[in-house]
Amino acid sequence: MKDMIIIGGGPAGLTAAIYGVRAGLDLVLLERLSPGGQVVNTWEVENYPGFAQPVPGWELMAGMESQARRLGVAIESGDVVSLARAGDGRLVLSMNGGGAMEARSVIAASGASFRKLGVPGENEHLGRGVSYCATCDGAFFKGKVTAVVGGGNTALEEAFFLTRFASKVYIIHRRDQFRGERILQERVLSCAAVEPVYSSTVCSVNGGEKVESVTLLDRVTGKESLLPLDGLFVFVGVDPNTAYLPKELLNDRGEVEVDIQMRTRWAGLYAAGDLRSHSKRQIVMAAADGATAAMEAGEYLASGC
Ligand SMILES: Cc1cc2nc3c(=O)[nH]c(=O)nc-3n(C[C@H](O)[C@H](O)[C@H](O)COP(=O)(O)OP(=O)(O)OC[C@H]3O[C@@H](n4cnc5c(N)ncnc54)[C@H](O)[C@@H]3O)c2cc1C
Repeated sequence: MKDMIIIGGGPAGLTAAIYGVRAGLDLVLLERLSPGGQVVNTWEVENYPGFAQPVPGWELMAGMESQARRLGVAIESGDVVSLARAGDGRLVLSMNGGGAMEARSVIAASGASFRKLGVPGENEHLGRGVSYCATCDGAFFKGKVTAVVGGGNTALEEAFFLTRFASKVYIIHRRDQFRGERILQERVLSCAAVEPVYSSTVCSVNGGEKVESVTLLDRVTGKESLLPLDGLFVFVGVDPNTAYLPKELLNDRGEVEVDIQMRTRWAGLYAAGDLRSHSKRQIVMAAADGATAAMEAGEYLASGC
């Protein structure tokens, strides 16, 4: 039985682990893929304090992982599929493929995943022109025509990144203006290759082996049109990774309800980062949540539960 189990190796989980291990707790961090979380999909991060120059996402996270390992954090492979509460307050985790672990406290830091458009042709063309990561796949579209779907910060940042490779980058947004930060809007719209397509939604992704076009619906006129392109990059939001948690802990968006100390409705269970209610979904917030959760859990454990 561990003092603490941390679920997820993104900024929230790794920071919680750093704080927990430095407080002398016997803990383990479980990660279903490899540590780093969403940040490893990010080309460059320029809003995380302490880096005068933009830092590649993978580099930032490699630093957090090394720091945790140097301090003695045990990082194990594990895909958590359920969490239950035993009568005596123990928290019991079940893993994909069998196996269970238990602890006196748990920090759920399993983050969030890309949301899909849910239109015909999207799944069929995944990896054949449809992508959710410009950083990962942008270089495949050198000299090609691409489109980004979305209007938030991530969509604008990724569109800007695509201009390094693509000859054309449409930004398709369902509203008549972007909602990303003004500095990002100005930066991306100043690029000659970028053309905004406002008040439009994608109805289908078309093509054979590869993407050839998308069908657009103009939300003002109600007319459909075909936009020929080679690549479609989707950034329309994220869903919290909370399927393993009981519904009683979640709100109607599937996020874990927490108070300002990252406490959930269950004693000993904390949530940190993108999966929690009212999250701003930023690296610095996730890290701060992780620190708060670990410190609160430490106090809870010291109080004898
Ligand atoms: C393309 C992109 C660009 C971004 N750019 C920026 C930026 O410039 N600046 C910024 O501040 N933020 C940026 N963000 C947001 C930032 O990445 C997130 O806010 C941050 O990563 C959230 O951290 P987290 O630890 O809560 O979750 P995540 O980073 O999502 O990490 C969660 C981890 O938990 C693991 N996991 C999930 N489910 C389970 C399970 N059941 N069992 C075990 N492990 C599990 C996942 O594999 C993952 O490694 C960007 C996000 C994206 C997608």
